[in-house]
Amino acid sequence: MGLIVQKFGGSSVADADRIRNVARIITETYRRGHDMVVVLSAQGDTTDDLLKKAGQINPKASKREMDMLLSTGEQMSCSLCAMAIEAMGYPVISLTGWQAGFHTTSTYGNARIKSIRTERVLTELDKRKIVIVTGFQGLDKSDDITTLGRGGSDTSAVALAAVLHADLCQIYTDVDGVFTADPRCVTGARKLDEITYDEMLELATLGAQVLHNRSVEMAKRYNVNLEVLSSFSGSPGTKVKEVTKNMEKPYVSGVAKDKNIARLALVGLHDQPGIAFRIFSSLAKYKINVDIILQSIGRGDTKDISFTVCRTDLEKAQEVLEDLKPALQFDHIDATEDIAKVSIVGAGMIDNPGVASLMFEALYTAGINIRMISTSEIKVSVLLDESDADHAVQAIHDRFFSEFGDLS
Ligand code: ASP
Ligand code: MG
Repeated sequence: MGLIVQKFGGSSVADADRIRNVARIITETYRRGHDMVVVLSAQGDTTDDLLKKAGQINPKASKREMDMLLSTGEQMSCSLCAMAIEAMGYPVISLTGWQAGFHTTSTYGNARIKSIRTERVLTELDKRKIVIVTGFQGLDKSDDITTLGRGGSDTSAVALAAVLHADLCQIYTDVDGVFTADPRCVTGARKLDEITYDEMLELATLGAQVLHNRSVEMAKRYNVNLEVLSSFSGSPGTKVKEVTKNMEKPYVSGVAKDKNIARLALVGLHDQPGIAFRIFSSLAKYKINVDIILQSIGRGDTKDISFTVCRTDLEKAQEVLEDLKPALQFDHIDATEDIAKVSIVGAGMIDNPGVASLMFEALYTAGINIRMISTSEIKVSVLLDESDADHAVQAIHDRFFSEFGDLS
């Protein structure tokens, strides 16, 4: 029958009725003869509420204490869910991240899983118990509680599926699966039956908030059979796998929008070797991730370099660049947050020339100006004014998905 890992997100366990609903899904799977490991997020907005509580007491609380606090949200949902399953008469046990053997780095608030000691979970499974594990947390080498970063329960679930060699890892959420675009903002957005790990990774990184991107990376690395589905609708979800089988699948799988970015431009740089190296190594030293980079053709002996960073890194990036000014002697820094990135993602793009031009045509027809462009084997991203972003996503989605209306 095999082992199934099921993960339920915060909205799926938000109140008593929803916990009972989740308990039903879990026990139905168990009744079919599967070994069951279940990972839960904290209920509803619990994690946000805990953050607010901490802010009222000490806005500068240490990260260690924050993790001590945040880890409690998942303990609540897991014990409550175990109680619901107990009430239904099934054997069940809830475990904290550390009881389930999660060992992590010490980066509080954003720890990485180093290893999982599976003995306890396996012992409980041997007793035919449904094992419920708190998502998003572990213990570091000094036995201090760590959390994995917001949305990290997906990663806990995939990690358990990987080490336990589960047959399937089902991520239950409040939407029916992965869509061609955010169904809340784009008319005509459709659920995909399948998507590749690489496509999902791009979409997750681009802010489609279905899966934690580290969970997709891990699923790809360990070849975990992943499925995203709704805990409310009972309809089939989206399978995430190495290769998708649809023979005539449209070469674009999805359109995504990311507003959490800012653009910086260094204007009037000397046009000589080593300048880009100085700039980007300084930013890397402060762990500031740079995304799209554009260097202008030199004018006389100067050039400009523009690039994007996460909006949350903008201030720090500006400081770092100001510090470089005496050494690099550029003219000035130009910064804006009024910018968004819109991308198309598709594994089939590599064999289909002209995909980018279709996207540009859609934007042109919609009267939207492109500020920067970047491409990879499976992605084309454009930077545009934030006020154009929603319109752009709709126009691009219409361009790609009305033509292939019957194929998905
Ligand atoms: N409860 C955590 C959060 O809200 C982890 C998760 O839900 O995956 O970010
Ligand atoms: Mg989530």
